[in-house]
Amino acid sequence: NSMLKIENLHASIGGREILKGLSLELRPGQVHAIMGPNGAGKSTLGNILAGREGYEVTAGSVSFGDQDLLALEPEERATAGVFLAFQYPVEIPGVNNTYFLRTALNAQRKARGEAELDSMQFLKLVREKLAVLHLKDELLHRGVNEGFSGGEKKRNEIFQLALLEPRLAILDETDSGLDIDALKTVAEGVNALRSPERAFLVITHYQRLLDYIKPDVVHVLADGRIVETGGPELAMELEQHGYAWLKDRIAPEA
Ligand code: ADP
Ligand code: MG
Ligand code: MG
Repeated sequence: NSMLKIENLHASIGGREILKGLSLELRPGQVHAIMGPNGAGKSTLGNILAGREGYEVTAGSVSFGDQDLLALEPEERATAGVFLAFQYPVEIPGVNNTYFLRTALNAQRKARGEAELDSMQFLKLVREKLAVLHLKDELLHRGVNEGFSGGEKKRNEIFQLALLEPRLAILDETDSGLDIDALKTVAEGVNALRSPERAFLVITHYQRLLDYIKPDVVHVLADGRIVETGGPELAMELEQHGYAWLKDRIAPEA
C-alpha cells in the first residue's frame, strides 16, 4: 500500500541530467525526509513532482496511488491530493489572503465534485485550523504573502496545508537559511497535521529541522540519486560528519 512510488527517475534541465535514477516509496502516515548537499537535485525533485515546467523526464515513473502523477497537470495533482507549497504564487499584492485561500480550496472541492464552502462555512473552518496550529489570524487580512517575512510565509504555507488537507504534502525548505522560528513553525505544523492517511515528503538541506520533526525515514540524495536510506539516526550522522563521508558512494561523473 504505497502512496507515492518513484522508480528509476531520470530528469534533465536543458539537456543536462540532474536526476540519475532516483527511486523512493512512501506509505500513508509516513514522514520521509530528503537531505543532501547543495546541488544534489532536491529542489529539482520537488519541482518535478509539482509539475513545474523546464524539466525533461527521460526515464522512470512516478505513481500516486494508482495514478500516473507525471501525466497529470499541476491543478489535477492538487485535486488528487498532492500539496506542493511552492506551487502557490509567491506574492499577490492587493489580493486578500482569506479570499485567495477560499478560492483555492473551493477550486479543489469543485474539481472533486464536492460542495463549495460559503464564507460562513469557510470562516468556521479557518478558526478550527488556526486553533489546531496555534496561529493567530493576523496573516489572513493582508495581501497574499505581501510583505510577509520568511517566517510569516512559512506560517501561511502551513496554514494552506491545513486548509487543503492533502494526502501527500511535499515541502522544500530550500537552502536559504530559515531562522529557527520559521523552522519550528514548519515542524510544529507537520507534527500537528500528521495522520494515518497523510504522508509528508520533507526536503531539507539542514539536519536541524529534524530536531523538531521525527521522520520515519531519512534519505540522502546526492548527485541525482538516493545514496543512503535510514532512520532518524542517519540525520544525526550527517550532522556530525557532514556530507563528505558519503563521497565514496557517489559515482564519479562518466
Ligand atoms: P538542491 O535543491 O539539491 O540544492 P537543485 O535541484 O536546485 O539542487 O539543483 C540541482 C542541479 O541542477 C544544480 O547543479 C543546479 O545548478 C542545476 N539547476 C537547477 N535548476 C536549474 C535551471 N533552471 N537551469 C539549469 N540548471 C539548473
Ligand atoms: Mg540548492
Ligand atoms: Mg534546493
